[in-house]
Amino acid sequence: MSKILIIEDELSIQKLLSYDLKQAGYDVYVASTGTEGYKKAIDGDFDLILLDLMLPGMDGIEICQKLRIENNNTYIIMLTAREDELDKIMGLEAGADDYMTKPFSPREVVARIKAGLRRQKFNQGDTSNNIILKDLTVDLDRHEIYIKGNLVPLTFKEFELLLFLIKNKGIALSRDVLLETLWGFEYDGDTRIVDVHIFKLREKLTESNINIITKRGLGYMLEEVNNESN
Ligand code: CA
Repeated sequence: MSKILIIEDELSIQKLLSYDLKQAGYDVYVASTGTEGYKKAIDGDFDLILLDLMLPGMDGIEICQKLRIENNNTYIIMLTAREDELDKIMGLEAGADDYMTKPFSPREVVARIKAGLRRQKFNQGDTSNNIILKDLTVDLDRHEIYIKGNLVPLTFKEFELLLFLIKNKGIALSRDVLLETLWGFEYDGDTRIVDVHIFKLREKLTESNINIITKRGLGYMLEEVNNESN
C-alpha cells in the first residue's frame, strides 16, 4: 500500500483529501503545519507528498527545497490556491514533481497521484545497468547520476526527464511530447512545468560534457560536447 503524506493547514481540505485517498486505498498521514509536515516528511518513508503552498510555520516551498537539499526524492505534488501563485512557485523552482491549483476534485487528485506513483514504480522496475555518456554515469538501479564520479542529486522527475532525453539523444523533443511522456497523456497542467524541470536539470549538468540545448521552434535536445577543456 502506498504511503501518502498530506501537509495542509485548511482542515476541511485536509479531511476531504484524507478521506478520498483512504477510499482509494492509500495509507494516509496528515500534518497541519509546515513544521510538523517537514518533520513527518523526513521521518516517514513516504511514496508521495501532497504539499500545500501556504502553511503556518514553514511554507511549502521551503519544505520542498529543504527536502531536496537533503537528497530526499519523494514524489511531491504541490497544491496552490490560485493560478498566479502557480506562476510564482514555478519561477522559484522549489523542486516539486507536479503542481495542482485549487479547487480540484478528489478524482483529479487521485488521478494525479496514481500517475505519479505508476511512473515511479515503472521506472524502479526499469533496471539493469549503467548508462555512460562522456563524464556522466546514470545508475538505473539506484536512480542516481554521477558527473566525473561525483553524485549529483536529482529529483524523481529530473531523473526521468534526463533519461528520456538520453534515450532520444540528438533528437529535438517538443514540450508537448515531454509533457505527455513524463506527466501523462491526461495531464491538464501547465507546459511550463517542462521548462522549469529543464532549467533545473541544466543547472545540475553544468559540470558535465552533456548539454541540453533549445532548438528554436522544435524543443529541447540533449547533446554531447566535444571539446574537453577541463
Ligand atoms: Ca494553506
